[in-house]
Amino acid sequence: MNTDQIQNQVAAERFDVIVIGSGFAGLAAAIEAKRAGASVCVIEKMKAAGGNSIISDGGIAVPASQAQAEQHIQDSKELFYQDMMRAGLYCNQPALVRTLADGANDAFEWSKSYLGVPYLEKIEIFGGHSVARCFTARGITGGTIIKQMLLKIRELGIPILFQHRFLSFWNDQNDTIIGVRVLKNYEYANSSAGEEIKIFAERGIVLATGGFGADVAFRQAQDPRLDETIDTTNKPFATAEALQEALRIGAKPVDLSKVQLGPWASPDEKGYGVGPYFSEYVVFQYGVVVDPETGNRFCNELADRKTLADAMLTIGHPCVGIANQACVEQSGWSIEKCLKKGVVKSFDSIESLATHYGIPNETLRNTIASFNQAVTNGKDAEFGKPILVNAQQIATPPFFAMRLWPKVHFTMGGVGINERAEMLDRDGNPIPHLFAAGEVTGGVHGASRLGSCSITDCLVFGRIAGKNAAGN
Ligand SMILES: Cc1cc2nc3c(=O)[nH]c(=O)nc-3n(C[C@H](O)[C@H](O)[C@H](O)COP(=O)(O)OP(=O)(O)OC[C@H]3O[C@@H](n4cnc5c(N)ncnc54)[C@H](O)[C@@H]3O)c2cc1C
Repeated sequence: MNTDQIQNQVAAERFDVIVIGSGFAGLAAAIEAKRAGASVCVIEKMKAAGGNSIISDGGIAVPASQAQAEQHIQDSKELFYQDMMRAGLYCNQPALVRTLADGANDAFEWSKSYLGVPYLEKIEIFGGHSVARCFTARGITGGTIIKQMLLKIRELGIPILFQHRFLSFWNDQNDTIIGVRVLKNYEYANSSAGEEIKIFAERGIVLATGGFGADVAFRQAQDPRLDETIDTTNKPFATAEALQEALRIGAKPVDLSKVQLGPWASPDEKGYGVGPYFSEYVVFQYGVVVDPETGNRFCNELADRKTLADAMLTIGHPCVGIANQACVEQSGWSIEKCLKKGVVKSFDSIESLATHYGIPNETLRNTIASFNQAVTNGKDAEFGKPILVNAQQIATPPFFAMRLWPKVHFTMGGVGINERAEMLDRDGNPIPHLFAAGEVTGGVHGASRLGSCSITDCLVFGRIAGKNAAGN
């Protein structure tokens, strides 16, 4: 992304709407605020836009879409709502989930027709969803969506103030929030860089600063297990300072201790890596996950993330995901990068695979034989995993395997909002002029987020926040 081209000169440190954060939620808010007639600026602490959004897989969950109907996939907003609530262990705020389910298709269409985002034709089912409803941006990256958003931002003439780190809200003498204090010329690697300035917001401020998956001190304060030995898929600057400032001025804390671990991660590479292309897209859908000590399966591989990650943590050591060439072919994905990096290994027999990972050979054979029987029966009586219509036996080589161990991936908690994306105080009343959207908010996903639902969340609530901030 050429940031020089995007960064415009700011005429005055005064705007109708200030958006803090340049990920999916912030850019969606900025675009909609501008379209609603407001002057807008985006504040971003880093030198480039995109936050965690730009490194995401670009998977977006959309119920009751035209494309599903064309492929005879029966879905509804109600089913989507029920899936999110079930995965969230019913800790989600129902009104927010309804808003997301209601706005998902519109946000998806907006991303295609107004922003010009290209999507793959495939519609996937990810763990915890009842039906295939997950669309993926071309290139399998959120960068495709961010690129189109930045083109629109430029077309609309919205300045992005890079290296501007939000410090605190700015109040007038009546304690009304009228703007923000910002560290201009901030440098991530140099804590003494930058000078403080104030920016005035005539109508509203949208907080869209993302999650705190990389903020070890803050996440450990919420869940002591999440110390520095647990890796994260997030960018290192996914930290909680802006969230903490919102809490300081009285925003409602919601579900802060609910932190999601990604069960598809590999302990043999840093961060998100490439392994999930094999584990999430091939193994969970078509293959099996076993405990290497016993050689047995221990869960429904298509369960939601929390169920799967908790099952692995209970096992207490990395597990092994297994599939074969036939599974890879049915998935339609390529695992070349995973093999090249050595995260996924290839074997010409089950015996050699078992020997490599120290799995009891005989038990592993039986485990795979009984899964193959489940494929034949079209029903997994043992763990209730949905057997996909194009599922194949794991019978012929090459066999592929990868070690699996969860990493911090997403923070469900954040500031409380209502259906208008207004930031709420501790009594549940909107804080005048403040709005929030995306991963910095809490309540949409409850105890556990379903895969592909964050992008839907960011687009739906980002758009709502921008429109309402402009209308204030
Ligand atoms: C590897 C990976 C893959 C993923 N894949 C998917 C997927 O396929 N589908 C899906 O639904 N979800 C996915 N997710 C989750 C999803 O990408 C994120 O939840 C979502 O992008 C968050 O968007 P956001 O706009 O809320 O925050 P972000 O995109 O993180 O943006 C926040 C921005 O705010 C800036 N900021 C933070 N603090 C300050 C401050 N003090 N001052 C100024 N700026 C600040 C940050 O620098 C950042 O640019 C994935 C996440 C990861 C890490």
